[in-house]
Amino acid sequence: MRHIAVVGSGPAGYYTAEAAQKKFGDAVRVDIIDRLPVPYGLIRFGVAPDHQSIKGVHKRYEAVNLSDNVRFVGNVTVGRDVSIAELNQFYDAVVLATGAPADRRLGIPGDDLPGVIGSAAFVGWYNGHPDFAGLDPDLTGPGAVIVGNGNVALDVARILAKTRDEFLGADIVAHALDALDHSGIRRITLLGRRGPHQIAMTPKELGELGHLGRATPVVDLGDFPPIGEDALLEPGMRKSVTHLRDFAAAAGPAKDIAIDFDFFAMPVAVEGKDRAERIIVEKTRLDADLRAIGTGERYVIPCHLVIACIGYQTPPITGVPYEHGRGRFASDEGRILPGLYCVGWARRGPSGTIGTNRPDGYAIIDMIAEDLTGAADKPGRPALDALLDGRGVDIVTFRDWQKIDAAEIARARAGAPREKFVAIDDMIAARSV
Ligand SMILES: Cc1cc2nc3c(=O)[nH]c(=O)nc-3n(C[C@H](O)[C@H](O)[C@H](O)COP(=O)(O)OP(=O)(O)OC[C@H]3O[C@@H](n4cnc5c(N)ncnc54)[C@H](O)[C@@H]3O)c2cc1C
Repeated sequence: MRHIAVVGSGPAGYYTAEAAQKKFGDAVRVDIIDRLPVPYGLIRFGVAPDHQSIKGVHKRYEAVNLSDNVRFVGNVTVGRDVSIAELNQFYDAVVLATGAPADRRLGIPGDDLPGVIGSAAFVGWYNGHPDFAGLDPDLTGPGAVIVGNGNVALDVARILAKTRDEFLGADIVAHALDALDHSGIRRITLLGRRGPHQIAMTPKELGELGHLGRATPVVDLGDFPPIGEDALLEPGMRKSVTHLRDFAAAAGPAKDIAIDFDFFAMPVAVEGKDRAERIIVEKTRLDADLRAIGTGERYVIPCHLVIACIGYQTPPITGVPYEHGRGRFASDEGRILPGLYCVGWARRGPSGTIGTNRPDGYAIIDMIAEDLTGAADKPGRPALDALLDGRGVDIVTFRDWQKIDAAEIARARAGAPREKFVAIDDMIAARSV
């Protein structure tokens, strides 16, 4: 029997477990360990609450859990409750699928002022991540600035702009829904260092901004290159740019909230007495390599809230080589050290969709199969259980999660699929109800 520990129960962790099942059949036992009592990583805590069809991918992961050779081991933090060295003693292979949950700082003066937050924190707040449930962002408005031109920036803008009714069917947590309902934000500015042809926004997500009840996207046609250049873009990008052109051309009635797309705009400082009150922005132009260069021309946007959607990093774990510049584990295509691997965002950094993690998981299992040449003499699960029991760690199993899940569904407000528990103690308590 071979024993594999997968650390992290997000998409990368589950695709790795699925691949192990397919590769080794009944000759493998996989433990998927997560620091939280609830599985699925960013499917639960990242993907927007009003995108339920995407969140539905967890059904596939459920099937992996309901087999005999895969086990969910929740409420166990690797690096605190159990070390990598200990896991290496117990398992033939340890795969780090810990994602990239830490925000990158803006790196400009004033980025530590209250009111300046990262998207992991803000997204975690509206999705009920226990680390961020108490964030209490300042929604007094009227200005909010979002730094970044990717899909996360779009999610954040849409969530800030939606009405209570537009969240029908979403699993946004009650504290966020209530706070957003009383929001005074009326102008949301998206800052992009480069132009419309350099966005990283997909057409479906961008198109949604054109159909919001009380918000209108505002785009300046003067920011675009000649329309003939759109033909050189790949089809998805061309569709996104067409949405932007449509927004620029639309002259519909103004709605309560404006979502301004400020292109060629680079934040240089956040200012305020005791908290963010304004952001200073420098206009840019593109050089021959399409890099943004500051022009020296500056303007000011008043705002109490600045949300940086500029990427994430993987927190280091003791004993695991780390690439500081790139904020991820140091590996050769996923091989870190003998018996230690990484996969998903912890390997590649924060890019790609949920599906991108599937080939990643299958590739790492192929590598593990290639590397497994020694005797099959590792103790696996019983050794981990004995160690955690000795340390008083309260493991949450997949059956426990099913009870937590049922309790969340039972307490949903009308029209919502669930009301998530946002405190770890409440999640754990729900399994005994
Ligand atoms: C805001 C946002 C919205 C997104 N929306 C979409 C979308 O609509 N469609 C789409 O295709 N993709 C979307 N993505 C991308 C998608 O979520 C990622 O591709 C995917 O989740 C990465 O998977 P992962 O398993 O590497 O990491 P994660 O999903 O982050 O999973 C990591 C897991 O590891 C656990 N963990 C971390 N450290 C430890 C530790 N020390 N010990 C034990 N466990 C630990 C965490 O609790 C977590 O469960 C979105 C991403 C973000 C940030």
